[in-house]
Amino acid sequence: MTSGSALQRERAREAALARAVEEGLLGPGSPLVGLLDVDGVLAAVDALHEAFEGPATVQHTFAAKACGLVPVLRLLREAGMGCEVASPGELEQALAAGFTPDRLVFDSPAKTVEELEFALEHGIAINLDNFQELERVDRLLAGREPSGPVGLRVNPQVGAGAIGAMSTATATSKFGVALRDPGAVDAVIDAFTRHPWLNRLHAHVGSQGCPLPLIARGVSVAYELAERINDRLGHARITGLDIGGGLPVNFDSENDRPTYADYVAELREAAPGLFDGRYVLVTEFGRSLLAKSGTIGSLVEYTKSAGGRRIAVTHAGAQVATRTVFMPDAWPLRVGVFDAAGRPKEGPLQVVDIAGPCCFAGDLTATARELPAVAPGDVVALYDTGAYYFSSHFSYNSLPRPAVYGYRTDAAGQVRLATIREAQSVREVVEESGLSHAEALVALCADGTERGARVEVAG
Ligand SMILES: *Cc1c(COP(=O)(O)O)cnc(C)c1O
Repeated sequence: MTSGSALQRERAREAALARAVEEGLLGPGSPLVGLLDVDGVLAAVDALHEAFEGPATVQHTFAAKACGLVPVLRLLREAGMGCEVASPGELEQALAAGFTPDRLVFDSPAKTVEELEFALEHGIAINLDNFQELERVDRLLAGREPSGPVGLRVNPQVGAGAIGAMSTATATSKFGVALRDPGAVDAVIDAFTRHPWLNRLHAHVGSQGCPLPLIARGVSVAYELAERINDRLGHARITGLDIGGGLPVNFDSENDRPTYADYVAELREAAPGLFDGRYVLVTEFGRSLLAKSGTIGSLVEYTKSAGGRRIAVTHAGAQVATRTVFMPDAWPLRVGVFDAAGRPKEGPLQVVDIAGPCCFAGDLTATARELPAVAPGDVVALYDTGAYYFSSHFSYNSLPRPAVYGYRTDAAGQVRLATIREAQSVREVVEESGLSHAEALVALCADGTERGARVEVAG
């Protein structure tokens, strides 16, 4: 069954695609575009807040890597979210969006001294990944108190989900302190004993492909450990539990499944004490907040057939749908076909592959799909691409980053669009390709005599 909000989202998406075509934002002059349903995003934020409502104080942060576009972060800030960042770029994006340090969480497995100093100085919450980092922070503090919460990331080692690369709680994951390794729990307890400024535990069990009971089990391991540490220290040292993100998204229908409420029900069962108010809870959802609200629209440039295989050549390929192209079974996308006016196409279905513009044979965003006949000038839409697809661009073939627009529809079905990001220009592509150093290598060769000598030898 499709819920009311899913239906609304579907209608708004159709209206927005038609409007983008009408305004020429998607068409021969700009054959690739990202569209984001602003009401859909806000509805997801509401659903998240509602699901976690309870005695416990909860700070919901958005994982910036899922979409680091500043206007999107700004919208989320206005909607009451915090922001989880994991690189200097994400940190600056979040600050530019107006997040104050107290609403930021800094996670990264490779934080530099400089990054740690900045976070400690500004009161940004940090989650330390390992004991070396812990000792580094201890040296940086040199007896001072950090001005924000400091947590330790643990790996509950509860196992993998369906996608290995998305599973962060396997026995050998690169993240956090692996709790089931010999002596690890004692070492964590010892760290909390020696460092009074350590006051949080962090566990992010995985992303897409991890079933809810697996994620809940991982969170409950962190919860039990916090209880044990507080018990051992004789006071409530650990005041916050950061339970990460990772709610999977349903890529095969319009429905939001599972919901945040499903996840909270699972958490309550796995760790009933988690919500009783003794711990501040921090969440770091990314994909589940945005995925269903995003669409990639592309012009169909050509249609052809090869060896009996029908192919539609579009402008959306590995540069915007990197994971889908390289791991098509793990990251399938729903596809819609629209005519040159942006209206949904109908008619008898044909089996077709949807290809991108990149110069390698595997650049396909969908294979063997039954779709209404696709023709040049049509628009192909890739659904559920609001998270990761807009911000994790791959610059294969020096293809530029597409423009992204946000949209809302009023009660009369009228669409309003706002620019989130302009398309990257070809000039910008050339500039970031070392344009200002164009002469560098020729000059290097002209400077010395070595090259001449080598050429002589070779000759
Ligand atoms: C990627 C990541 C998230 C967000 O995961 P989603 O699956 O997008 O919800 C949260 N926390 C950490 C530490 C991450 O690496």
